[in-house]
Amino acid sequence: MKDKIKAVALFSGGLDSILAVKLIREQGIEVKGINFKTPFFGLNEAFAIAKDLNINLEIIDITEELLKILKKPKYGLGKNMNPCIDCHALMFKKAGEYMNKIGASFILSGEVLGERPMSQNRNSLNIIERESGFKGRILRPLSALLLAETIPEKEGLVDRNKLLDISGRSRKRQMELAAKMGIKDYPSPAGGCKLTEPAFSKRLRDLFFTQESFSIEEIELLKLGRHFRLSKDIKLVVGRNKEENEQLQNFFQEGDFLFKAKNLKGPVSLLKRGFKINNELIDNGTFWILPKNLKI
Ligand code: SF4
Repeated sequence: MKDKIKAVALFSGGLDSILAVKLIREQGIEVKGINFKTPFFGLNEAFAIAKDLNINLEIIDITEELLKILKKPKYGLGKNMNPCIDCHALMFKKAGEYMNKIGASFILSGEVLGERPMSQNRNSLNIIERESGFKGRILRPLSALLLAETIPEKEGLVDRNKLLDISGRSRKRQMELAAKMGIKDYPSPAGGCKLTEPAFSKRLRDLFFTQESFSIEEIELLKLGRHFRLSKDIKLVVGRNKEENEQLQNFFQEGDFLFKAKNLKGPVSLLKRGFKINNELIDNGTFWILPKNLKI
């Protein structure tokens, strides 16, 4: 009976994933959603959209695994710090584990062949599938007719004739399909992943390859203020507006110094790991010792 068939959807809340879910649901298959949490990307609007579509969304934190990948991505990085192939393989691995846990038969995603140069070309889709450990169990309904038949199609769980052959970067067919399905509200396709942003990637690279160790909070801090690397351990972060000035104070921890003008408006500055200031940094001029009663 079709109503007993379950599938797990990688659900970002974007139009492609909405359409993929709808196409599979139209075949009478129950769809559970899965989404991932990290300091680099997260739920955004996915939760609200899943609720509208009546999809149960399982949220899995993949920060630890992604950090390991970032240090040595097997399939390299994109233009910035985005290890998209390894990252997708990890997501499908997690989705596959969840599929087994809930007794679902396959995984689906809204990926479209050729839509993204690094992670959605034919070769990458094959690598991702192989590396995930769930070869044959990943169905991409929007491009299925251009890809090899999957196990759920071969087993008759999914009717291949009702799947699509969309490819390329144009979103025209997806938009036509959305109109046909009565889908009006969906987020724009803009990424939402900090790892694809040049400025954030530069800061992340600095944190990864300069400091010996760092916390998740220090990754979060990369999203705020102007950053000045003062030594391999010490960084100064300066707020750029009122909101950042307020947020910066939440990152103040033992061992840091926080600078605020007393009766004046001005930026808040956070000297991360200020306790590491030593004579060497004073001797080489990175830090100065000012006279005790100096008035500015
Ligand atoms: S854009 Fe970000 S979230 Fe998406 S696959 Fe690449 S690294 Fe992962």
